[in-house]
Amino acid sequence: MSGIWKQLLNVFLPPRCLKCGRIVESGAALCPDCFNEMHFISAPYCQCCGRPFENAENNTALLCGECLQKRRKLLRMSRAAFVYNDVSKPLVINLKFHDKTENAGALAQMMYAAGHDIWQASADLIIPVPLHYLRLIKRRYNQAGLLAGYVSRYSGIPVNYDVLCRCRHTRPQVEFSGHARIKNVKNAFAVRHPEKVKGKRIVLVDDVMTTGSTLRECAVVLKKAGAKSVDTLTAARVI
Ligand SMILES: [Zn+2]
Ligand SMILES: [Zn+2]
Repeated sequence: MSGIWKQLLNVFLPPRCLKCGRIVESGAALCPDCFNEMHFISAPYCQCCGRPFENAENNTALLCGECLQKRRKLLRMSRAAFVYNDVSKPLVINLKFHDKTENAGALAQMMYAAGHDIWQASADLIIPVPLHYLRLIKRRYNQAGLLAGYVSRYSGIPVNYDVLCRCRHTRPQVEFSGHARIKNVKNAFAVRHPEKVKGKRIVLVDDVMTTGSTLRECAVVLKKAGAKSVDTLTAARVI
């Protein structure tokens, strides 16, 4: 957009804080107050699961205790931009349920920054966690797909929206906890064109990682279809 139009747009439709709606400087996603309230995930964290270390001061460990014990890892690495809490929740909820699709670009920008280690290790294909088509009809868009599109634009890594499908309609994960979440998404996903993921380093994109059961279930089918590695990148994460 040329400068003059951008200036006019800023006058009539000034950029607003994604969280509180206050007018912000052009280019900023959050107002300074909301920005300061957010808990962005930063080093030191586990190089594999991305969980921030508690004793941050003198922790030079690369992996957390849990990841150290795991022999075979389903996920190469998991990264998220910020902690999912009362402060960040509206950002995600607005995108998911209140048609605030314009938030996707700003959230994806935060995700792109949080995915630094993934881009450095290199990846071949971005895949959003799919919605079942019945839910897609109801919601009209897949928030993970919107985020994946922007992350692809920022990283230059191609995105594929239909190779992974949600073949079984499941109840929303929020209705379950613990083991029931794993059961709820079991066998819910399938890879449509295995040749498109074979040998590829995949980045799975979603809005929130809660227990990780949905992302893990997607990773299982992608690995079975021959994917070389699977990373997960989310805007928020429950810690
Ligand atoms: Zn604000
Ligand atoms: Zn870990």
